[in-house]
Amino acid sequence: MSKDEILSPAPIEDDQIIDDQIRPQRIDDFPGQEPIKEKLRIAITATKQRKEPLDHLLLSGPPGLGKTTLARIIANELGVDIKQSSGPVIERQADLSAILTSLEEFDVLFIDEIHRLNHAVEETLYSAMEDFEVDIMLGRGPTARSMKIGLKPFTLIGATTRAGLLTPPLRARFGDVCRFDLYRPEELECIVSRSARILGVPIVGDGALEIAARSRGTARVANRLLRRVRDFAQVKGDGVITREVADAALKLLRIDDLGLDDMDRAIILTLIQKFGGGPVGLSSLSVAVGEERQTLEEVHEPYLIQIGFLKRTSTGRMATHLAYRHFGIAAPVEGGQETLF
Ligand code: ADP
Repeated sequence: MSKDEILSPAPIEDDQIIDDQIRPQRIDDFPGQEPIKEKLRIAITATKQRKEPLDHLLLSGPPGLGKTTLARIIANELGVDIKQSSGPVIERQADLSAILTSLEEFDVLFIDEIHRLNHAVEETLYSAMEDFEVDIMLGRGPTARSMKIGLKPFTLIGATTRAGLLTPPLRARFGDVCRFDLYRPEELECIVSRSARILGVPIVGDGALEIAARSRGTARVANRLLRRVRDFAQVKGDGVITREVADAALKLLRIDDLGLDDMDRAIILTLIQKFGGGPVGLSSLSVAVGEERQTLEEVHEPYLIQIGFLKRTSTGRMATHLAYRHFGIAAPVEGGQETLF
């Protein structure tokens, strides 16, 4: 694979064109994640004053919370270029070396899913991050020899949905780790209102808050629901998004008042009805609901845990009493009796 393919984005679709329009470009346009932004504002100002590269940075958290967006914003704020790739795409050391040697002074290299880099590539990254140099192999077979090449000082921004899978030596080479939290409804309301303004979508009253409250704490979901509700408002109404229009559109999409979709409901109901509320291992749960372990763990669980429906324990996943109550099912209690909340 050529360097350009490794760095190139996926083909552009309609939704992606819209995404690019509404993606925040500056730190002050990016609602939410206040502690991270505060830290970054200081770090960016300080490094610009010292004319140094920003320390390597690890961004961690569930998908769709804005890790890629923030990496681009950091490059914008620093006034440098950003090159973007991802862990599974960089297959060989030579691929990484080609990218690294193409970086200009203080540029940002963004590697998404950095926990999925293979071992050899990861080792190449160590000296690049620490000493700004890489070993390059010249020739093949017995006459092959390695040569050190100096790199221009750069900043690596790694993103991961699974910070726990990073090897200790890689993690230790990051100057800072920023953990993204799920967004609160008021923050998502800000995101929805901002996107609607940019797209010229009329949204009134509590329309934005209704979408926000049902977006499972995730910016990407909020923007996606806004687009679907906009379609609904245009076809079934007069184009204006009100609370009632948002509610009707989201019901049609089978998203309930808490933002749960069919898979979220299947997870909880399976836990309760097939596994007596748990504890049950992730693999068994994944087979029972017909969804990949990784998707359960990274996409569904963070929100179910946040709203208090699911617990991760050392023996497996458990449904909470709150989950039983939401579905109107009697929860087992100690002593063998059941209560209906
Ligand atoms: P991640 O890299 O964490 O998976 P992205 O940066 O790709 O997430 O963001 C997903 C989508 O959500 C993008 O369309 C982006 O524009 C939008 N988004 C993310 N965070 C915010 C935010 N704080 N404000 C507005 N839009 C956001």
